[in-house]
Amino acid sequence: MDVTVVGAGVVGASVAYHLARAGVAVTVLERASGPAAGVTGGSFAWVGNSGGEWPDGAEDLRAYVHDDFRRLEAEVAGFAVRWTGSLSFSAGSGAAPGPGQALVGASEIAELEPGWREPPEQAVYTPTDGGVDPVAVVASLLEAARGHGAEVVYGAAGGQFLPGALTVLAAGTDTGALCRRAGVNLEVGTSPACLLRVAAPPGVVKTIVAGPRFEVREVRDGELLMTIPYVVGQSADEVGQNAELAVQRLRSTFDGAAECRLLGYRVSSRPMPAHGPVVGYVKPDRSLYVAVMHAAVTLAPTVGRLIAEEIVSGEPREELARCRPGLPKFA
Ligand SMILES: Cc1cc2nc3c(=O)[nH]c(=O)nc-3n(C[C@H](O)[C@H](O)[C@H](O)COP(=O)(O)OP(=O)(O)OC[C@H]3O[C@@H](n4cnc5c(N)ncnc54)[C@H](O)[C@@H]3O)c2cc1C
Repeated sequence: MDVTVVGAGVVGASVAYHLARAGVAVTVLERASGPAAGVTGGSFAWVGNSGGEWPDGAEDLRAYVHDDFRRLEAEVAGFAVRWTGSLSFSAGSGAAPGPGQALVGASEIAELEPGWREPPEQAVYTPTDGGVDPVAVVASLLEAARGHGAEVVYGAAGGQFLPGALTVLAAGTDTGALCRRAGVNLEVGTSPACLLRVAAPPGVVKTIVAGPRFEVREVRDGELLMTIPYVVGQSADEVGQNAELAVQRLRSTFDGAAECRLLGYRVSSRPMPAHGPVVGYVKPDRSLYVAVMHAAVTLAPTVGRLIAEEIVSGEPREELARCRPGLPKFA
């Protein structure tokens, strides 16, 4: 079986790896010149399955997230997760812990984040959360796919669909447009978000700290990722000013952060299908398959495994039942 995967973001890389590992001849076509050039490269890349919103089909996948990450850590050279746990707090009181989470007070927060100067009175602690370097993770999956015989071609725009051959569209925000080119109507909403890269002394932030003004985590020794609120229509200057302001806040929030320096910021458009992940065949002849979702850094290991299993076996995976593209209209 030959499969073409369009897109070398986190979804395409995971699908390619799992298919190649199962013995499928895979070609990845990526129009950019390297891996994770789309929204994945601008992601905060927080990995966790507690809290937050898990719409429809995503809810059915969350139970598998940790096992799939642990498996890839063992299977794939260079696939590494920083299992740091997370501390979330909101402006007012009323943060309610969900399953696997605990409400912690000042002394526990001080143990987890000793450098936090004026922590909130309470935060929701999720000990099982972690984060990845999204570019490194994609590169490691593609390298492992190559090790299983896959071909990865950069500077190659996919979208020439051959009847009888299977194409998996993992093209993020471009998935809808590529579907339309194949005569399939698939709406994929988008939503922009802003990521900052910050140079910092190692260990300034130990967990993932998520508050109303920013989220911050250490992505590698000496570098933090931050997200800040972004409003559609903000000019580049405004975003730049907000980014500098956020780094100033960071400096005054944590001991040892005085040297923190903004390395860069980026606003990326996230694919946001309205009703959760969209995963499955969209052509009756099974020549076209789509995989597009929000929170794809968290979901990609599980989704990639399940997609490979159903493509190879020909049997639909029950776990993906609520992720199926809704009755596509054929031109
Ligand atoms: C600021 C921010 C914070 C985020 N935080 C988190 C988080 O903490 N946890 C989490 O799980 N998710 C998070 N996300 C969302 C997550 O980053 C995305 O869900 C995920 O990266 C989507 O991956 P993808 O592979 O679908 O898309 P992409 O990474 O965009 O990959 C699609 C690829 O397809 C390529 N492509 C498009 N058209 C073609 C074509 N015709 N031919 C060839 N190639 C093509 C593109 O160049 C791109 O490389 C965040 C996003 C942002 C912006």
